[in-house]
Amino acid sequence: MYNLKLDLERIELICEECGHVELVPYHCHKPMKIMDDKLVCWKGDHAACCDSSSMRELPLHHGKKMILKN
Ligand SMILES: [Zn+2]
Ligand SMILES: [Zn+2]
Repeated sequence: MYNLKLDLERIELICEECGHVELVPYHCHKPMKIMDDKLVCWKGDHAACCDSSSMRELPLHHGKKMILKN
């Protein structure tokens, strides 16, 4: 079933070299934000509540940091 609300939270990163697209990772059930070339939980940097860090590097593709699509 098509879920519009979920679809609005599909924020994507794109590789400027080849156009490869991947979804922004989630943290605390929402897409992470990009701040100063890093991915940060939408709640901000906080003590790990799960296995994944609330702040991490942007994924690389073709040796470059991926950027927000659009
Ligand atoms: Zn690429
Ligand atoms: Zn979080």
